[in-house]
Amino acid sequence: MSDCLFCRIIAGEIPSSKVYEDELCFAFNDIAPQAPTHFLVIPKAHIPSVSAISAENSAVVAHIFEVIAKIAKEQGLESYRVVSNIGEQAGQSVFHLHFHVLSGRDMTWPPG
Ligand code: 5GP
Ligand code: ZN
Repeated sequence: MSDCLFCRIIAGEIPSSKVYEDELCFAFNDIAPQAPTHFLVIPKAHIPSVSAISAENSAVVAHIFEVIAKIAKEQGLESYRVVSNIGEQAGQSVFHLHFHVLSGRDMTWPPG
């Protein structure tokens, strides 16, 4: 059994509210939503963070962004933010690559 929380969610060992799934990626609602819409899109392959993206594994990232655009269109999201935190200082708490998709409220820039 993996000790990675998101690998366990992909495997169905930990329940989640699934938004989308295909052979390469999985999307599910964040357990602590920071906006009316807040879901995470993750590769099924374990990649620790953006800093581990390389020529060998980057195709899944392009695919994830296609999936984000597709889900956003299906959900009628006109404005949204895609965020990936890298490292603890930036706020990363789960070390399996994930892209937050947030929508449905005013957002500030720069982020806190
Ligand atoms: P990070 O802090 O690494 O950028 O994002 C991790 C996200 O995963 C957080 O927004 C957190 O709320 C979410 N999260 C942590 N544990 C779980 C869980 O068990 N289920 C779901 N659906 N989300 C989780
Ligand atoms: Zn993992």
